[in-house]
Amino acid sequence: MRPGRCAVRVAGGETLTASAVVSALPVGPLRAVTVSGVSDERLASLHRQRQAVAAKFTAAYDKPFWRDSGLNGLSECEGVLGSTWPQNEGVLSALVPPERYGVLLGMPDALRTRELLADIARLYGEEARTPLGSHVRMWGTDPWTQGYVTQWAPGDVTAVGPRHGTHEPPFYVCGSDQWVAGYMEGAVRTGRAAAKEALRHG
Ligand SMILES: Cc1cc2nc3c(=O)[nH]c(=O)nc-3n(C[C@H](O)[C@H](O)[C@H](O)COP(=O)(O)OP(=O)(O)OC[C@H]3O[C@@H](n4cnc5c(N)ncnc54)[C@H](O)[C@@H]3O)c2cc1C
Repeated sequence: MRPGRCAVRVAGGETLTASAVVSALPVGPLRAVTVSGVSDERLASLHRQRQAVAAKFTAAYDKPFWRDSGLNGLSECEGVLGSTWPQNEGVLSALVPPERYGVLLGMPDALRTRELLADIARLYGEEARTPLGSHVRMWGTDPWTQGYVTQWAPGDVTAVGPRHGTHEPPFYVCGSDQWVAGYMEGAVRTGRAAAKEALRHG
């Protein structure tokens, strides 16, 4: 990577050339990409970041049956699920947090949905076991995300350091991991900022 002369080799073997490169990859997948022509300090900073390894589970019912028991669908749980919340009318969403992700991975595929629904049934009643449909998404082991949102463990902020979210033209970074706390706001803000910076440098 040199000013005005960047090359990206894609998985199919094709090489693309450009005057600048903007990486919008989450920090996990980025670690698997070989980057040259960028300072060691910048790569060390980027590679020092981590993501929260989590999963999401969603179950859809014909009605929000939990309300019949005076419950609003919001919970902090002690099972495999870490929390539940109503995503829409009759739809419950739940997150499996990093410290419980291993238990989820250990569930045989054929039991996984049944056991997660049992967690919800313990909170809201037997109707939870028979949704119209449900879906589990293993964000933490999805190769293209390797996580849920940016996670900051003690010591990470100073170790990642002041290069976080900054650029080394012609190499630019964006994506929610390059913002203070992940999330959509981070993805949008850093995307706009990286585009502005790349255009400023021409
Ligand atoms: C279950 C869940 C719930 C969430 N809820 C909220 C919420 O309520 N509010 C909120 O603000 N945020 C929420 N978030 C977080 C938010 O979705 C993310 O922070 C945001 O989508 C990240 O955007 P991004 O552009 O940085 O990365 P991504 O959207 O992850 O985009 C990165 C892209 O890079 C691609 N990619 C990866 N590796 C490669 C490679 N080697 N080559 C080419 N492409 C590659 C991926 O396929 C992906 O398309 C949630 C996330 C999850 C998982």
